[in-house]
Amino acid sequence: MTTALKAPPLGPILDDIVRSHRPQREAGSVPANIPFLGAVPFDRFGIAVATASGEVFSSGDAEVPFSIQSISKVFTLAMALQGDRSGSLWSRVLREPSGTSFNSLVQLEVEHGIPRNPFINAGALVVTDHLMKETPDAATRLLRFLATQAASTGAYIDEAAAAGELAGSSRNLALAHFLKDFGNLQQTAESVVENYVRQCSIMMTCVELARAGLFLARNGQGTHGTVVSASEAKRIGSIMLTCGMYDAAGEFAYRVGLPGKSGVGGGILVIVPGVCAICVWSPRLDAKGNSLAGTAALADLSDLTGWSVF
Ligand code: GLN
Repeated sequence: MTTALKAPPLGPILDDIVRSHRPQREAGSVPANIPFLGAVPFDRFGIAVATASGEVFSSGDAEVPFSIQSISKVFTLAMALQGDRSGSLWSRVLREPSGTSFNSLVQLEVEHGIPRNPFINAGALVVTDHLMKETPDAATRLLRFLATQAASTGAYIDEAAAAGELAGSSRNLALAHFLKDFGNLQQTAESVVENYVRQCSIMMTCVELARAGLFLARNGQGTHGTVVSASEAKRIGSIMLTCGMYDAAGEFAYRVGLPGKSGVGGGILVIVPGVCAICVWSPRLDAKGNSLAGTAALADLSDLTGWSVF
């Protein structure tokens, strides 16, 4: 069960969250393979809540663009499901938590090139390949989708960051080559990884991401009408809950009790069905690649508001 907005009002609650969770000293890590992310100051912290009734509350660095990284995987999945009437995507990728790190190779080999879910890198590469069949530049299509849903033209692909990540993409290329070898990739490994890395390099603010994710809290209804059906919105939320935080999905469900999707840029998008979408951002990560301060803030926010799917 979810509960409606509670007093005290959300504005002061978010200000309190920023005061308590903005990092005072450097802790946590940045991804070694994405040089751009190491340069972001450790004390950045922003949070935004977009409500189902159309209000937006925010605090801290909520208007500062950051690299959305794997949060993109929620939106590419939604885009893939929009056009997948026959369910062909689900013959190529499963819907089970992996229990392994987001870029692990081991499971993919053992399980014959069928990724466990669309939110680990192997699964997202399959989703990208699926989108590229129709739209070779799937990253630009994703950017347009995000701009429409966020009702903002602020989002952009940081091409320099993408090039920097691509130069260190041996692991994602290895995943793509495994997929290709098992017959689960139609385009070339190189083109899929390049496109995937550009999706990850989209820059958005907390406010924009919370708005863009709102359709998932509103039974699939976005800014300009239906994005996905109510059943698909429910299913995407379920996959977020079980797979959105990789091998920390259980711990995140325990602490926050809401479907979420993290990115190594330090962002986390969380859905409170029927109520709101939340985006928190703080760039330093825990050992599983999820925002340290962001996770702690969401655990607090869920306790303070009573928002939970349980
Ligand atoms: N671009 C990153 C990668 O492929 C995304 C990973 C993430 O955000 N968890 O390694």
